[in-house]
Amino acid sequence: MPGGAPQTLRPFLSRAEQLYPETEIVSRTHEGVVRYDYGEYADRTAQLANALDEAGYGDGERLATFCWNHHRHFETYFGVSGMGAQLHTINPLLPDKHVQYIADDADDRLVFVDQSFLPKLEGAVDGDPDSFGSVDRYVVMGESVPETDLDAVAYESFVEGQPTSYDWPTVEEERPAGLCYTSGTTGQPKGVEYTQQMLWAHTMALQTPQALPLSDDDVAMPVVPMFHVNAWGLPFSATAGGAKHVYPGPQPEPADLARLIEEEGVTLTAGVPTVWLGLMEYVKEHDVDLSSLERLVVGGSAAPEAMIRFFDDRDVELVHAWGMTETAPVGSVAHVKADLRDADYETRLQKRTKQGLIVPGLEFRVVDDGGDPVPHDGESFGELLVRGPWVTTEYFARPDASEAEFTDGYLRTGDIVTVDEDGYLQIVDRAKDVIKSGGEWISSQELENELMAHDAVAEAAVIGVPHERWQERPLALVVPTDDADTDTLDETLRDYIGSEYPTWWVPDNVVVIDEVPKTATGKFDKKALREEYAEESLVEGRVPDDAAPE
Ligand code: ADP
Repeated sequence: MPGGAPQTLRPFLSRAEQLYPETEIVSRTHEGVVRYDYGEYADRTAQLANALDEAGYGDGERLATFCWNHHRHFETYFGVSGMGAQLHTINPLLPDKHVQYIADDADDRLVFVDQSFLPKLEGAVDGDPDSFGSVDRYVVMGESVPETDLDAVAYESFVEGQPTSYDWPTVEEERPAGLCYTSGTTGQPKGVEYTQQMLWAHTMALQTPQALPLSDDDVAMPVVPMFHVNAWGLPFSATAGGAKHVYPGPQPEPADLARLIEEEGVTLTAGVPTVWLGLMEYVKEHDVDLSSLERLVVGGSAAPEAMIRFFDDRDVELVHAWGMTETAPVGSVAHVKADLRDADYETRLQKRTKQGLIVPGLEFRVVDDGGDPVPHDGESFGELLVRGPWVTTEYFARPDASEAEFTDGYLRTGDIVTVDEDGYLQIVDRAKDVIKSGGEWISSQELENELMAHDAVAEAAVIGVPHERWQERPLALVVPTDDADTDTLDETLRDYIGSEYPTWWVPDNVVVIDEVPKTATGKFDKKALREEYAEESLVEGRVPDDAAPE
């Protein structure tokens, strides 16, 4: 190692603690708003590390979270990784069977869980307690523990009385620090591990002006959940820059976000389009002061043009970004290049609706079906391939999946893009067969398999159709068996899926068809189905309110 120290997360926090001990960390929790500073934050991460040590957890082990965005969740970010352990942020919105598979696959030892997610976790654990990883302890994020059969302790009792300093080890940079699962297009969810070095490199890249830099005059509010690729890395980069942090807590409503922006002077916030559509509606009807807000980052799904205009009109710069779990996640940001800054508004807007320019440190290629590069003319399209220090090259314990999705160190993103003459990437299609509703994945193949297991179904295809609020919603196209009662099929099948899956997975409509069109190789022709049924879509009033909650 030529440098004097490995590339790890810990120095970001020690610097913030030294230089900005009084800068605030604010958190909306079910117990009210909690407010403290980097000094106290550092003390509490040390207490957490001591408590984990004492309870026999740590070094090299995987410790999981099942939580919204709040200060305690943030304490696990530096506390767990600083000990040389690995933080596995589980997405609590997933179907129970996925949660169970993930905890088992990761062999988690302990779970930090929000009170409000405790019933959901109990459900997943109950399914088969023996296969819930190696978990033998649950730490409930609060001051007390509600009644539960799980071996649970309250977070505050767990850390209470522990020393406020900890002998942080020098962790090697190859050590896994994070783990996040992404939806499998076929088969089970796949884990992506983040080493200390990957997270360090991603943090440093975010801090470049071409990405999403944060400094000591910023107030950062990640609305994107902390179980989604470390809230897009913002808790780390906000610490690196010495920014104030604001965590919006359990299931924030637009009114909560508006209030936090106003009261805490938020300068940068980030989330999926669904969240901002909610805020837009709220802003139209209420008097909200957005004057502190400089940047509003939109990713996970495409930022609608109308949304960019809406925030431009209010002097808030909407920054469109693209990323993936596999890219830790930020890969491109749609800044306006210097030589385009004098162009007229519509030209600049057109660039900003694209997914943007690759961030410094990453390389990309766009290749056609034959693997040849496509011209950068804004029209030719191909699959986007990326590689770089914070892009994974394999899936956790899944050599089968890894082989299919990586070529020469490049990740095959499954996103079909164009590149224009200025280098802006634009997603035009998706090669992977998944549906993204409100920022959360729904596996079309899994739903198809479930549907085809039903007696009344001969064949079923599930496609994503455009939806204004959730970007996409699932629609089921079903060929019934001869003796199926087609009058009640829609209700029967929706109930059937609803009994196994969260409401937001249930197709909003079941349409009876004669035959599923097939491609030359005999696969379901989803493209043809999407074209034909895009308008058919959804039955009024059926789209669940929380499809999916952010
Ligand atoms: P994240 O949690 O960051 O959304 P996922 O791994 O769940 O990461 O999803 C990544 C995929 O989401 C991308 O491959 C792409 O299909 C889609 N995606 C991400 N950002 C955008 C965007 N700005 N516009 C369109 N699609 C996007």
